[in-house]
Amino acid sequence: MEKHYDLIIVGAGSGNTIVGPDFEDKSIAIVEKGAFGGTCLNVGCIPTKMFVLAAETAYTAREAGKLGIDLEYKGADWPGIVERVFDRRIDLIAKGGEEYRRGDGSPNVDVYNHEAHFTGPKTLATGIDGEDATITGDTIILAAGSRPFIPEWAEAVPFHTNEDIMRLEKQPESLTIVGGGFIAMEFAHIFEALGTKVTVINRSPLLRSLDKDITDAFNAIAAERFDARIGRTVTSASKTDGGVELLLDDGSAVTSEALLIATGRVPNSDTLDVAAAGIDTHPDGRVVVDDFGRTTAADVWALGDISSPYQLKHVANAETRAVTHNVLAAWAGQDDAALKPMPHDHVPYAVFTHPQIATVGLTEQQATDAGHNVTCMIQNYGDVAYGWALEDSTGVAKLVADKDSGQLLGAHYMGPQASTLIQQAITILAYELDLREFPRKQYWIHPALPEVTENAILGLELDFIDD
Ligand SMILES: Cc1cc2nc3c(=O)[nH]c(=O)nc-3n(C[C@H](O)[C@H](O)[C@H](O)COP(=O)(O)OP(=O)(O)OC[C@H]3O[C@@H](n4cnc5c(N)ncnc54)[C@H](O)[C@@H]3O)c2cc1C
Repeated sequence: MEKHYDLIIVGAGSGNTIVGPDFEDKSIAIVEKGAFGGTCLNVGCIPTKMFVLAAETAYTAREAGKLGIDLEYKGADWPGIVERVFDRRIDLIAKGGEEYRRGDGSPNVDVYNHEAHFTGPKTLATGIDGEDATITGDTIILAAGSRPFIPEWAEAVPFHTNEDIMRLEKQPESLTIVGGGFIAMEFAHIFEALGTKVTVINRSPLLRSLDKDITDAFNAIAAERFDARIGRTVTSASKTDGGVELLLDDGSAVTSEALLIATGRVPNSDTLDVAAAGIDTHPDGRVVVDDFGRTTAADVWALGDISSPYQLKHVANAETRAVTHNVLAAWAGQDDAALKPMPHDHVPYAVFTHPQIATVGLTEQQATDAGHNVTCMIQNYGDVAYGWALEDSTGVAKLVADKDSGQLLGAHYMGPQASTLIQQAITILAYELDLREFPRKQYWIHPALPEVTENAILGLELDFIDD
């Protein structure tokens, strides 16, 4: 089968949200080899956070004693959690999304479900329900995401990735996690809190790209909770009766029932064979795009994990909005002045591990290297009233600011509600608010955790303006 379209979209994660009312008069092909909704919905952000909440609830029992409450965690109904997360929520949404695109609600859209690859400029080999197809498009948007990187040694043993670990039939008694980034640390928290013995192997400190104070504090906490083999690499792997054995570069061995590989992600530009269409890639495999999402091939655009320097869903969403606008502007014959740049200012992210972590802007080191006249404040959660209620002894907020301008440069939280607390810092950065006015121009609810932020700001060496 051969067919030509006005627009082809490869990938129905963020890519599926492009097609709205502005595209009604266009013929469109959506190519999706897997489940609609992509990584975030099916195997990423959303199910992990649903598991994290279950884990947090289990973990509460461990910490309840300090509040004078006697709670006992008796174990998890793992199959019940899997059923709730996937059968009763995620899979229904993915199925509904695909049905909508295949059905009468999207009459101008064809869905192809074979893995696509380029065979030439603007030409893709794919297929639908067993029938091969070659499709061509006037405009093509690549939203094909990324996949887990698998080290060579892992090929010798059974292993899991984020794509299947949440659908295990039973909770493993022991789990080795190789990797120390945010995906590794979220799964480490989930499994350990639910009662699995967790070993973490990583060649550098865990969450090493954070501000050093946060990285150091987190590593100290993690070392008490996990069997953390930091500074180690895996040299070989073999199958055992009960699972897997890994040999490390210091000669030690780690055995466990299950193995999770979380050693980074690879953009799907290679499997798409973008080179066949004249589309350049960076050395790390990301598709090269300009400020507006255009690839090096005419009329081919890219967004999200396949091209972005940030592998985050809120960034993929923001890039999708920009590229959608830009494609429509290009179709309308508008020039570059009408295009929206990829929105990459002040990108925040959170790590839903324990303690929770959230970060935005520059680390202290980056701010210093950039030549700012830096002032920093580390505010303990435990020194504000709600922190007393929490009996918190590890939570911190670290703010980095410029003494001369009063501008916030970075904010780094580790502790309860970090992903929510950081939103004020994101707003300060986005609107370039002056920290010298910020604390006294508003009320701060007492006694609530935003007082951590208030005190952190007031602890900076700035000339505050008292309203
Ligand atoms: C475990 C985990 C947890 C995460 N948690 C968070 C979080 O809490 N917050 C956050 O912001 N981000 C999180 N992320 C990152 C986030 O999921 C991604 O940044 C985001 O989903 C990228 O969206 P995308 O549209 O670029 O790609 P995807 O959502 O991956 O969509 C790409 C789609 O393209 C399809 N595809 C690929 N190649 C082809 C091909 N050749 N032919 C046909 N179809 C193809 C794939 O099947 C996929 O459905 C997490 C990721 C993981 C793995």
